[in-house]
Amino acid sequence: MTAQPQRPAFGTVLASHMSVASFEGGRWGNAEIKPVAPIEISPAAHVLHYSSTCFEGFKAFRRADGSVHVFRMDRHIKRMRQSARQLVLPEPDPEQLAGMVRAVISRCRDAVPEAPGALYLRPILFGTTANIGAAATPAVDALLTVLASPVWDYFAGGMKPLRILVDDVNTRSAAQMGMVKTGGNYAAALGPTLSARAKYQVDQVLFCPGGEVQETGAANFLLIRDGKLLTRALDSTFLHGVTRDSLLTLARDSGYEVSERIFTVKEMLEWVQTGEAALSGTAAVLAGVGTLIYHGAEHRVAGGEVGPLTRALRAQLIAIQQGEMPDRHGWLERV
Ligand SMILES: *Cc1c(COP(=O)(O)O)cnc(C)c1O
Repeated sequence: MTAQPQRPAFGTVLASHMSVASFEGGRWGNAEIKPVAPIEISPAAHVLHYSSTCFEGFKAFRRADGSVHVFRMDRHIKRMRQSARQLVLPEPDPEQLAGMVRAVISRCRDAVPEAPGALYLRPILFGTTANIGAAATPAVDALLTVLASPVWDYFAGGMKPLRILVDDVNTRSAAQMGMVKTGGNYAAALGPTLSARAKYQVDQVLFCPGGEVQETGAANFLLIRDGKLLTRALDSTFLHGVTRDSLLTLARDSGYEVSERIFTVKEMLEWVQTGEAALSGTAAVLAGVGTLIYHGAEHRVAGGEVGPLTRALRAQLIAIQQGEMPDRHGWLERV
């Protein structure tokens, strides 16, 4: 047997082409496919001073027959428009953006890895108006770019149960910005996450301001046990994950009682005495939590392993994405 080749880390490789459209004079110009290359913007560009930027992330999958299928693109485009609206950036036209994504997939078709790999699509939108006195003025010009990145099995080295610090002091973002996929939120979560890493050797921080469980720096948080699933109800404080929505749908389909409501750290710690906990997002799909650290005490989750319910839910969603199980909800579009 030959050893598995070492694959590049998630996000470190870009496919050859990108699609670019600019918003000027109150309208979107035509999108263009170009080789990936540096983009020139003014050093006074709005985004560089006032963080007028948002992004999306989703995947397209190659099947054994060579066809490529993109997962829930409509939901990601809708979310990007919502992010743009919240940041007072020009909203991408949904048809145009979908066309840009399809064009990038078509142009980079040969770069779509085989399952369990995927082509990760990354649209970005940012304000380009050159004006360093625009702190209280929106950008009137913007650039929309769709990048693509081949990604391989996120858990190539095996599914390692996560160590998570439960933080009931810091907030990940301003309360009204949690639902916006914008760079500033990640910059804000980085400091607390790096200091938690150094102090407790954790993978992520679970933000629970005021003792209410929200999410980690880049993934939603789910509690799972036999026949029951609990997660925070949608509100402006956290990102409305498409993976979260897909997993909740599959759980309901298989008879789970799904509760979406506010819950506290105390309730979570009771739950994990017998249940499982997991993080959801496009990159890893569903990642099991093995340890929660709260006020210096370590709480084992699912015996410190990735639990069987977490594994089963993850496998089910991946099977649908890869075309191995029927797509009952119309989540995939052939490109
Ligand atoms: C992108 C993201 C998620 C996951 O969203 P998906 O649509 O499932 O990929 C969760 N939380 C944050 C903060 C995110 O940025």
